[in-house]
This record gives sequence, C-alpha cells and structure tokens, in this order.
Amino acid sequence: MPKVVLVTGGAGFIGSHLCDRLMDNGNTVICVDNLITGSQKNIAQHLSRNNFLFINHDVAKPFTNRKVTKIDEIFHLASPADPNVHSKFSYMAHPFETMQVNTVGTWNLCELALKHSAKLSFASTSEIYGDPEKSPQDEEYRGNVSPTGPRSVYDEAKRFGETIVSAFVREKKLNGRITRIFNTYGSRMNIEEGRAVVHFVKQALRGDPITIYGNGKQTRSFCYIDDQVEGQLLAMEKGAAGEVFNIGNPDERTILDFAQLICKLTKSTSAITFSEELPQDDPLQRKPDVQKAKTMLGWKPKVDIEAGLLKTIEYFKQNIS
Ligand code: NAD
Ligand code: UDP
Repeated sequence: MPKVVLVTGGAGFIGSHLCDRLMDNGNTVICVDNLITGSQKNIAQHLSRNNFLFINHDVAKPFTNRKVTKIDEIFHLASPADPNVHSKFSYMAHPFETMQVNTVGTWNLCELALKHSAKLSFASTSEIYGDPEKSPQDEEYRGNVSPTGPRSVYDEAKRFGETIVSAFVREKKLNGRITRIFNTYGSRMNIEEGRAVVHFVKQALRGDPITIYGNGKQTRSFCYIDDQVEGQLLAMEKGAAGEVFNIGNPDERTILDFAQLICKLTKSTSAITFSEELPQDDPLQRKPDVQKAKTMLGWKPKVDIEAGLLKTIEYFKQNIS
C-alpha cells in the first residue's frame, strides 16, 4: 500500500537515497530539509513529480504546512554528520544547529508523529558509543562519551534524541524506533566535507597526499549506502516501538588499510602521510554487532567494500573538478 512518508534531511546523502527507494516503491514523499549540509541536486530527479514535495524548513522549528494533511511515517535523518574540524559542513562548524536539530527537532517530530498517528524512525549514530571499551558494540552497550568534549555537541545530542524518542514511546505510546547508523558511504556524499571516505577518494584521484590522522591504527567499519537504506526501511517496517538497531557493516579495517585500499582501487600514486594528531576523542575502534538486526529485521549488509568503493569512486570521478 503506498504511504505518505516524511523524510527530514531528505536532501542529504543518506536521506536522498532513502527518498529514491521510497519513490521507487510508489509512495508519496515529503522531503523536509534546510540545506545546511545537503543539496537540492540530490533530489533534482524528483522535484517535478507530483508525489514528491520538497519543503525548505528547519525542523528545530515546529512543522506546519497546509499541503501536508496526512503522514504515515517519519524518518528523522536531519543533522550535520561530519566530524572534521576543517570542514565548513561539519557539526563542529554548526554546534548549536546540531544540538538543536537532534533534541528540539526530535521532540517536534515526535509531536508531529503523534498528531498524525504516524510511525517514526530516528537516525542515531554509532557515535553514541563514543570511544568504546568493548568491541564489537551491541545495542546494550552504554558507551564511553565525553559530555563536554568537541564531539559532544553531536554525540550527546544524539543520545538525548534517543532519550526523547524512548520517553515518547513509553509515556505517549509513540510508535517510534531508533537506528544507530555506523559509517556509511556512497554516491552523493558531500564532496566538500571532511569525512575519511570523501577526503581519501578525492586526495587519491587528484594525486594529493593522503592525510591520515594519528597513526592510522584506529578502526572503522564501512557500510555501503544501498545496505544502509535497506536497513532503514526494514527497521521502520519490522522494528517494534521502542527498539534500537545497529545498522552497519561489521567489516572492520584500520584507517591505514582503508586508505591503502582506496589508493589501490583508484590506481593512485598519492603518498600516504601522517599529517596530524588524532583529533580529540576520535574513537580508536568501531565495529557494529548487527545480530539484532539480522534476527529481528532479517537484514544483513550484502555489498563488499571493494564493490561499494568502486561505485563511490566512479561518482567522485564524475563530480570533482
Ligand atoms: P548529510 O549532511 O548528507 O545529510 C543531513 C541532511 O540534514 C542535510 O541535507 C542537511 O541539510 C539536513 N539538515 C540538517 N539540519 C537540519 C535541520 N535543522 N532542518 C532540516 N534539515 C536539516 O548527512 P548524512 O551522512 O546523510 O546523515 C544523515 C543522518 O544519518 C544524520 O542524522 C546523521 O547523524 C546520521 N548518521 C550518518 C552516518 C554516516 O556515516 N553517513 C553515520 C551515523 C549517523
Ligand atoms: N580521518 C583521517 N584522515 C582524514 C579524515 C578522517 O585519518 O582526512 C580519520 C578520522 O580521524 C577517524 C576516521 O578517519 O579516525 C574516520 O573519520 P570520519 O571523519 O570518516 O568519521 P568518524 O568515524 O570519526 O565519525
């Protein structure tokens, strides 16, 4: 049955791919985005369709629109997500907006979901585990986060966002669930931002030095966008109210190995450099335990890192100057 689905952050990287899938499935999509880090280019393919509505709006402010009379589902993905201190698109560059969208914004969207008796899914993050003392991280792990450090504007806001959704579920019977997204990559990542995938692919394609922070032994586990979107859809469809799901790929790599793989796949001659200290509170390891999503949602990541990176590299080739 076609639904009316509201996607906040729908003009961003993950949100725009989610809009694509929702449109492919015949739904009506309301994309709400203030374009602080996203771009209308990501949704250009839908703008003239009559079952797609783009609304430029900051979801930290209450949402009302005369054209929107019915909502069945809300995916709340709006938030800056890049931690890189040098990037103008990072949450470090937008600390107050980041805190607001994940707290006040999440509260507003819970109220909106209740008003329309809609289901809600809140995009949280592996960052809520901070610099983890256990690996892999399962959903029961409570994390190791600094409440005052530079990453806290994002980490702690996401943690409070989770608290808000959970309280609305418990106290007001909201049909809400939470996904903890682990590092995801693919086409439409903002080519000006500073996340490792974007930096390394751009540097490798241009023959510039690859900038590893710290000694490169810190680990991440990278999930391809198609797998992430599938996980998002299944969490909404099959995830019960109040449940939390890790959505990510457990294929863990050191950042140095990851940079070397990008150099190999781009056939780059770039030198690998150890240019800067590891940023403060940068997690040393990150690997999702996805057993819960496998068992309860029937989801697992399918795209291996080389196949996913080759598609991503192709996108960057077309889009960087
Ligand atoms: P993105 O920056 O590409 O997309 C975020 C979108 O939200 C952008 O289009 C931006 O303009 C919009 N936005 C931000 N604040 C807003 C506001 N107040 N009102 C309306 N729109 C607003 O980032 P992404 O990588 O696509 O991330 C999407 C979501 O997934 C975020 O909530 C992020 O925290 C979460 N997440 C992403 C990753 C990842 O690896 N990409 C990892 C963990 C969590
Ligand atoms: N990183 C790096 N060089 C870069 C960008 C990132 O070494 O040019 C490192 C970063 O310090 C972190 C890892 O790569 O340890 C992943 O960083 P990213 O910004 O992609 O996201 P995070 O997982 O930290 O949220």
